[in-house]
Amino acid sequence: MPELPEVEALGAYLRERAVGRRVERVEIAAISALKTYDPPPTAAAGRTVVGATRHGKFLDVVLDGDLHLVVHLARAGWLHYRDSFASPAPLKPGKGPIAVRVRLDDGSGFDLTEAGTQKKLATYLVTDPAQVPGVTKLGPDALAADLATFGARVRGRRGQIKGVLTDQSVLSGVGNAYSDEILHAAKLSPFAISSRLTDEQLATLHGATREVLTDAVTRSVGQRAATLKGEKRSGLKVHARTGLPCPVCGDTVREVSFADSSLQYCPTCQTGGKPLADRRLSRLVR
Ligand SMILES: [Zn+2]
Repeated sequence: MPELPEVEALGAYLRERAVGRRVERVEIAAISALKTYDPPPTAAAGRTVVGATRHGKFLDVVLDGDLHLVVHLARAGWLHYRDSFASPAPLKPGKGPIAVRVRLDDGSGFDLTEAGTQKKLATYLVTDPAQVPGVTKLGPDALAADLATFGARVRGRRGQIKGVLTDQSVLSGVGNAYSDEILHAAKLSPFAISSRLTDEQLATLHGATREVLTDAVTRSVGQRAATLKGEKRSGLKVHARTGLPCPVCGDTVREVSFADSSLQYCPTCQTGGKPLADRRLSRLVR
């Protein structure tokens, strides 16, 4: 799932490539991907792209005259920039992975795509990003929050730190992958209880959050949008690396599975060498 660094990079790419171009047409191939109906997609035609910004994991393509195309890429969504499109014909609804196509006046544009069968990609055409329900609920930006804000938000929501860090209403921008990386860098167990973190642990966690996200943004920005996903993978130390050696200590990266997700961690770096209980495994054993 694209998280803060990838969305930031997509925004940077659009600022470089799309700003100043006029929207020719917005085509909706997956009706369910468009969550708003007023203003209609035709309202975007003829408007100039004046900016591209980010609210947590939401990408906001800003058009002149106060119109915003706000996109949440969900788990399997992505933005593909095209220098040109093979056909001038409008997209046919319901065919293939392309949910939305935005054509610009120089023949270029971008497709919002979603792989898999779970269709969760969401786009909103609004006059104010605050009209997007998910945006109004966002907590402070995880990368921008200072220590005082960060500490108050994390301690204010009692729960396992993994869940607290990925709760967009606590802090916005961090998802499953970067929370694994941040907790590894902070040498904290994903099951540590947020409200019980010491001042020192909180300061370390805040520093790790900034460092991991800043590094990832630096790696991602400047890459072509199409190669961003691979870049994300190459920078990860524990996430999606179950069974591989921890690059810090050499211990084997382990995993805890949940119904529809999993987390990865290093026992030596994060849990005093003790493996965490994996509910799925223990259920199988029983
Ligand atoms: Zn380690």
